[in-house]
This record gives sequence, C-alpha cells and structure tokens, in this order.
Amino acid sequence: FKKITNELNFNNSMEGKINEITFSINLLLLIAHTLFMILYIAVNAKAMIAIDLLAIILYIFFFKRCVTSTTIYAQIVFIEIWFHMIAAVLSFGWNPGFQNWTYGLVCAFFLPSLTNGKEDERPYWFGLLFVLIYYILIFAVRILHFPILHPLNEYYNHFLFVINTLMSFIGIFAFTLFYTSKHKFKEDELSKKAGFDELTNLYNRYTLNEIGNKILSNNSNFEIAILDIDHFKNINDTFGHNSGDLVLKQLGKILRMFSSEGIKSGRWGGEEFLIYSDGSISPDQFINLMEKLRKYVESYKFKIEKGHINVTISIGVAEANNLVSLEENISMADQNLYRAKETGRNQVIYEKNGI
Ligand code: GH3
Ligand code: MG
Ligand code: MG
Repeated sequence: FKKITNELNFNNSMEGKINEITFSINLLLLIAHTLFMILYIAVNAKAMIAIDLLAIILYIFFFKRCVTSTTIYAQIVFIEIWFHMIAAVLSFGWNPGFQNWTYGLVCAFFLPSLTNGKEDERPYWFGLLFVLIYYILIFAVRILHFPILHPLNEYYNHFLFVINTLMSFIGIFAFTLFYTSKHKFKEDELSKKAGFDELTNLYNRYTLNEIGNKILSNNSNFEIAILDIDHFKNINDTFGHNSGDLVLKQLGKILRMFSSEGIKSGRWGGEEFLIYSDGSISPDQFINLMEKLRKYVESYKFKIEKGHINVTISIGVAEANNLVSLEENISMADQNLYRAKETGRNQVIYEKNGI
C-alpha cells in the first residue's frame, strides 16, 4: 500500500490531497465489492457474481488510473454503482436495501455540479433519472411483485440492509469530503493570490490596508513604519533586475522573521515595505525592533546572481492615531522616511506628530 501511494507521488498540494482521497475511495470500493462477492457466492447468485467480478476487475484496474482523471473516474464509478444497485434489487428484492445507494449517488452527482460554477443541466437530468429508476424499482418490486431471482432469508436481509444504508451514508460523507476539500484548496489558493505579494510572499498593499484599518479601529495608538531600500536603483543598474528581485525576496524573508505576535509587515509597493504594531507593544519596543531590523539588514549578506552584496534600509516611524485616516497616518511615517533619506540613509527616524 505504501509503495503504491509513494509511486503515485502524493504530496501536500491540492492535486496530492485529491489524489489521496480518490485513492482511498477506490480502495474502499474494492473492499466493499470483495465482501459482496463473498456474500453472492454464499447465496449462489450467479448474475451478481459476474457483475461483481467485473466491478472488482474495474477497481483493481483503476488503482493507478483513478488519479489521472478524477472526473471520468467518478462517472464510471457512478455508472458501476448504479447498475450494481439495479441488478441487486432485481436479484434480491427490496428488503436488503440496495436501493438506498441512490441517496449517496444523488448526493455525489449534485454536489460537484452545484459547486463548479458551470451552467450544465445534465446533472439535474441524471439526478432525476436516478430518482425515476428508484421509483420504477419500487413499482416493479413492491407493487407489481416481480419475481425475485434470489430470495434471501431474514438474517441476510437484515444484515444487508444495515450494510447498504451504512455504505450510502459513507458515500455521502466521502463525496462531501472530497468536494469540500477540493473547494477549500481552491479558495485558499485564490485568497492567497489575492492577499499576498507574489515576489516576497508578504501581505500586499490591499491586505495591508485591510489590516491597518482594522488595527486603527481597535486602537487609539499604534506604530507604523515605512521601510525603503537605500539606492535600490543602483542595485538594479549594477547587478541587473533579477538581482534586485533576489534582494527583495530575501528582505521579505527577513521581515517574516521579524514579524511576530503584534507585528505585521507587507510589501507596500516597489522596494517599500510597511510594518504595523497592533498596539500590544510599546512605542519604545517597536522602535528598538526597527533599529534591530535595520542593523540586521546592514550586516546581512544578500545573495545575488553573482556573489553577495550589502544592502541598507531607511525606516520612518510614526505613532498612528485614530483621529485621522490610515492614509494620513502612513503619510506621517513617510515624512519621517523622507527625513531619514535626507539626513544620510541607513537609519530609523521617529518623530511624534503632535496630534
Ligand atoms: P533611495 O535611497 O532614495 O530610496 O534610492 P532608490 O534608488 O532606492 O530610489 P527609488 O525609489 O527612486 O528607486 C526605486 C527603484 O526600485 C526603482 C525601480 O526600478 C525599482 N523597483 C521597484 N520595484 C521593483 C521590483 O519589483 N524589482 C526590482 N528589481 N526593482 C524594482
Ligand atoms: Mg522607493
Ligand atoms: Mg529606495
């Protein structure tokens, strides 16, 4: 089992998780059909033995293939379960409860079509067909009393009824889990793309505005720092744009390292970064932290395309207050950054804004 899972190369990506779930569903179906085979042999239901044998071959065959196209796999599984159910009801009658699989089938058929956002009428027609066949079976077996090919004794009927309803419930859980996982991964991926900067993996400007406004509405005072790389243009001009990007990436890593409980940082744009405290640390602690960050960057050897370079940063800090907008608070920090640049760079400037 481990060997197969390794071969199929499951990983933590969305694809990996979905493959893992599909693989487990296939394994469960194979086990279920093998158990049914024992029963069909015990009661000598020849037609059911043949149908079940085909299903077992199908699921063994699918072990490697189910993960390559989950949609086609799912469709074949639906058809197999459906025919198996119809054949079983006609063979054993209503009492063993094979018809209950319809509930799982309808659920598994509707969930993906309702959530994939495509305008496709087919799932509704198929859903209706499942229900229609269910009622045709009721009519044939319970009202017209079609002759049952293999009447089972009471003990078998009760046992099978429990197993079949259980399988339908498991089917509902498994398919719901499958589709919600798929959507959760897609949603996470999208929100990550929307809220984060691709190059540095830090919050982007949009998220920084959201976070800033949230902190502003909850705190009367907190710190905002705006950080700008010194002479970044020179880095681009001397070592190339790719090296410039590498510097930004590594600075992103350093900022993530400095972010902790109470500190949030992101890329404000270009080579400018924004850092917030959420009011839980004192202004002195925040300024000390910025000074530590500046020193850390100063001594850090940034790896570029050819070799390593030193980079310095300037930081402007402002004590933000909720009497003015976030934008105005950030522009106060920006004025201090301007002062840091004017008076020599590679420094942290903090001046209270007297409001
Ligand atoms: P100063 O010390 O005054 O900040 O000097 P500077 O050269 O850093 O000043 P300026 O803000 O004028 O230059 C910023 C440069 O950053 C200009 C732009 O080409 C570059 N830049 C902005 N975004 C990126 C990026 O994503 N990648 C790279 N490689 N360069 C970028
Ligand atoms: Mg700049
Ligand atoms: Mg700069």
